[in-house]
Amino acid sequence: MKEKFENQIEQIATIIKHLEEGKIDVDSLLELDEILEVLSNKIKSTKLGNPLHEQSQSLASIRHEAILIFDLSYKVYKYTGSFDHLLFPGKAEALHLSDILRVDNPAYLSGAVEKLIKTHDNQEFETSIRSAQGIPLDAKISLELLSDKEGKELILAGLSFTNTTLGDIHSYQQIVIENLPDIDVYLFDTEYRYVLAGGREKERMGLSNSYFAGKTLFEAFDERVHKRLFPFYRKALNGEMADGELRINDQVYYIWANPVRNFYGEVVGGTAISQNVTKDKEVEMRLKRAKDDAQRADQAKSVFLARMSHEIRTPLNAIIGFSEQLGKSKLSDQQENFVGLISESSDYLLSLVNEILILFKLGMGKVHIDKFPFSLDHTLNVLYNSFIIKANAKQIKLSVQVDPDIPDSLVGDPFRLRQVLINLLSNALKYTNEGNIELRCVVEENEKKNYLLRFDVKDTGIGIDKSLMNTIFDEFTQLDTPIETKGKGAGLGLTICKQLVELMDGRIEVKSEPGKGSLFSVYLPFRKASKKQKVAKESHYSLNENLLKGKKILFADDDEYNLLLAKTILENWGVEFQLGTNGEEALSMLQQNKYDIVLLDIHMPIMEGIEVVQNVRKDKENPNHDVKMLAVTANVLKSDIRTYMDSGFDDHVLKPFMEDELYNKICNVLHLARNREGVKQTDKKVKPKLENQDAFDTKNLWATANGDVEFYQKMIRTFIQNTKLVAQNIEQALNEKNWEELGEKAHRAIPSFQYFGLQNTVEKLTNIEDMALRNKQFNGLPKATENLLKEIETILVQADEALSKEK
Ligand code: ADP
Repeated sequence: MKEKFENQIEQIATIIKHLEEGKIDVDSLLELDEILEVLSNKIKSTKLGNPLHEQSQSLASIRHEAILIFDLSYKVYKYTGSFDHLLFPGKAEALHLSDILRVDNPAYLSGAVEKLIKTHDNQEFETSIRSAQGIPLDAKISLELLSDKEGKELILAGLSFTNTTLGDIHSYQQIVIENLPDIDVYLFDTEYRYVLAGGREKERMGLSNSYFAGKTLFEAFDERVHKRLFPFYRKALNGEMADGELRINDQVYYIWANPVRNFYGEVVGGTAISQNVTKDKEVEMRLKRAKDDAQRADQAKSVFLARMSHEIRTPLNAIIGFSEQLGKSKLSDQQENFVGLISESSDYLLSLVNEILILFKLGMGKVHIDKFPFSLDHTLNVLYNSFIIKANAKQIKLSVQVDPDIPDSLVGDPFRLRQVLINLLSNALKYTNEGNIELRCVVEENEKKNYLLRFDVKDTGIGIDKSLMNTIFDEFTQLDTPIETKGKGAGLGLTICKQLVELMDGRIEVKSEPGKGSLFSVYLPFRKASKKQKVAKESHYSLNENLLKGKKILFADDDEYNLLLAKTILENWGVEFQLGTNGEEALSMLQQNKYDIVLLDIHMPIMEGIEVVQNVRKDKENPNHDVKMLAVTANVLKSDIRTYMDSGFDDHVLKPFMEDELYNKICNVLHLARNREGVKQTDKKVKPKLENQDAFDTKNLWATANGDVEFYQKMIRTFIQNTKLVAQNIEQALNEKNWEELGEKAHRAIPSFQYFGLQNTVEKLTNIEDMALRNKQFNGLPKATENLLKEIETILVQADEALSKEK
């Protein structure tokens, strides 16, 4: 340690010797001043193990805070000092004294200088000076006469600040350092010996700052503590910053150690700051705990919701199912009325539960928007198909138009898009009694692959009052709607729409005129799917690819007509198949044989399709536990389809199915690889059609028959027989005014008429079914039924013609 100062001490000794010999010159004095400063800095930074402030205080007492040396024309020779930054913007030699030292009263200074020159007596006076920052500082200036080597007269001005803040700065620092709450600061030398200790945190361990003076780390703390502090100190003495957390007793400390370097950049010691962060840690822990708790609560909420959805929906399905069954039995008028009310209310309740669930999920951020390639045409087609029957039943024209500039393959979330449009179309249908509903999809903006699409749902319904337009998207908004539509919704549909649309980065707008109709516009961004991104769900398989040959299939349905159709189709495909006629039979077959695919009618006697699928999915021993199962259903309600999927079905096929459709559905569900050798058939876009001309259409049948004239004729004969029977039954029910029977018969006849493309008849049947079973508008039934019977007569003639043509 001593060697480090030897140089300077020697120099000082020489200068002092010169002074003693009377060889005083300015340069030596300045040199002495500079050496002292270097030394002072060194002492400050190396801490010889003695209390710092005493040393520096004694130095301060013999030194001025600034020294300026100037000649008789006030030209500054040199200056130096520890606070010169307060005075001068920068060091520049050969400046006038007034450029550096801005004395408030220059006359005072010049007076003292003059007196000094005249009397050679040292002068001293107090004055106010301006700092470079413009702050007035009280200072004492002492003037002394010197001479340089050549004997030229010079004046030394020593400047000390009398302002207490600056004058006592060292002790103030000391006070601050000593009293730091929760923080300890240490300065230590290369021997790990404390030079300075500050802060009050150490009092927790019963230690004072003075206790540390002169002690090493190893003496000051017990082994348990110093062993843990040592790595930090060592790293600092190796010239690196070290930080980290330590637990001492029951407290957590954040330790931060840094090297201290001298004038020459050598590490001469280190500082260690140790901050008690126990409280922060506790807060952090509490926050973490709170977050964990919140997460757990959130999870519990989700689990509760999932359970609730199941728990509520299951009994609701039972209520709906049993009231339906009850409705089929012989009931008095009043009982029938009650059953009707039960089934209507439970249907409403089910949709309400579903809506509340999705709203909850939206609020909890649990609704995720997917992004995958999908076919817009397909999505809109499905939508059209699910609304056309209801629209027809209300005699409202429904049309879907798609801008041809929209690419069919888009990237986005078709399920959520469908959910939004279903809500809007349901409303349009609900609040429109005559006229038409249009769904239009146009390109609003297009930039490269990015499309902003606008979906317009326009109706000619009752419209919305202007005053209510602002709140229409709020929760539970139910406007002053006419009695007949009241109670048909909870006012959640549009809230859900808005939230879903916004989740998809889009927006929704409404324009409406009471009595004229409404227009809801949804703007949604999509990206065009790249060529590589195939629309996964929409693989179109050609029958000729013959992909199902050899597959084992179970088909269960109680409807004779459907069984016959299925049998023929399955024979065509060369599959191994078995047919079941009720749920129980299907289940026992599923327990005994392994299948590749299972097709189950939903409504079957003894055991329903859903029950069968639930049974199979539950039973791990069942060889078909994981088999792909399709629900075969005439039901197009999204809530029902979702129930089937929830029960364990993989997908559904709408009745009456077309061969191509059924084939495609099965291939898609099985994710079969395409067989390119099969006859190529390009994926065709199916545009929704509206016009349905009723003419007995055998196109489908021919395709299915695949040249099998016998089958073709058998099918037509079955149709003729069935249709005659239907006509008879309907007529009888009409005569007996057994409206319920009439509705039932009409319902059951729908699929076969649909298969032969007899859309008008289907509409008439649906209308009768609705009037008889749902709306209970019995008055209109006789006329509607007579019309139907007339139409059936014509169709039977056409069917006969088709039969004889092939003969
Ligand atoms: P709700 O379940 O009652 O239909 P929504 O949130 O879907 O709830 O709609 C809120 C209200 O906005 C409805 O009660 C109805 O008064 C009005 N409304 C929505 N769509 C239409 C429409 N197409 N025509 C007329 N009124 C509508």
